Amino acid sequence: MVKIMPKNKYFKMKVNRQDSAYSNEFHDALKKRNNLIETKFGANEIIVAAPHNAPKGENTIAKGKRPADNNTAYVARNIADHCRGQLIVATRANRDPNKLEGTYLKHTIDTSPEIFVEIHGHKGGKKRPFGVEVSCGSKNLSSYSEHLAKKIKNQLKNISSKIKNQEPEIASKLKKLRVSGNYDRITLTGQDSKSIKNARSKGIIAYHIELGPAMRISTQGTEKSIPKLGVYVSQAISAALAKTHKKIICKKSNRLENLVPGILAVGGLVAGLAFLSFNITGNVVSNLSQKNSNIVGVVLFVLGIMASFFYFKGRK
Ligand SMILES: [Zn+2]
Repeated sequence: MVKIMPKNKYFKMKVNRQDSAYSNEFHDALKKRNNLIETKFGANEIIVAAPHNAPKGENTIAKGKRPADNNTAYVARNIADHCRGQLIVATRANRDPNKLEGTYLKHTIDTSPEIFVEIHGHKGGKKRPFGVEVSCGSKNLSSYSEHLAKKIKNQLKNISSKIKNQEPEIASKLKKLRVSGNYDRITLTGQDSKSIKNARSKGIIAYHIELGPAMRISTQGTEKSIPKLGVYVSQAISAALAKTHKKIICKKSNRLENLVPGILAVGGLVAGLAFLSFNITGNVVSNLSQKNSNIVGVVLFVLGIMASFFYFKGRK
């Protein structure tokens, strides 16, 4: 029996592919209603998404039914870029994209990335003591969100000490920023998000991250930016993700320049051994004398070892 999904259950958005997320076209796309922006920064298996984005000053999405997460697109973009992954932004959505089957789910978790990160915005104030809240959507997985939160906190401290002379004010804000991944202590857990739930059932590592307004909304400046605090927090989150998931995020691409040391390593070792073994078996290679052939063998072998060393060091 074929089940036909009722039309209103499938939430459709217009897909808008952007080559650059730093272009005017990207900023124009953010202003559109009900678009899904897609930008690829690299081949790493991580998707960073902002499902509830709306421009600064626009308080709601889904036709007034839910609060907007202003400027989360920029934070998600920075993280997707740092992690060389993919960015997905839902702009001024007509309905709630991460609670319904539809274009958003199809372009995020249905593509089965290894890691899925959703960036949200919370309102701040006394009810939200943590500037940064991390959740994996369930109490059972609290140890994972706590782990990432701890790494984010460490990165914030690192950045803070690096910039304390040039930017003392932001440095002190970064240091004081409270981060929690404890499911019982955070206020927004993402437990109702279909995206996070479905991701888990597919074996995708999923994080729901909530950020306060100070990281997203500038009191002055253009609409095309987030406060410097948010830029540094994006860096800290990216570095924490990379440290936690080294194999997925720090993976080297297969570009030729990365393969050259590997080819040299294997080639050098094989050729070196070949030369040496020819000598042992008494074969004379071309016109080289026994002694020269030995030297060539040893040199190639040593080069092979050195190239192997750099190859594996580079891959770490
Ligand atoms: Zn949200």
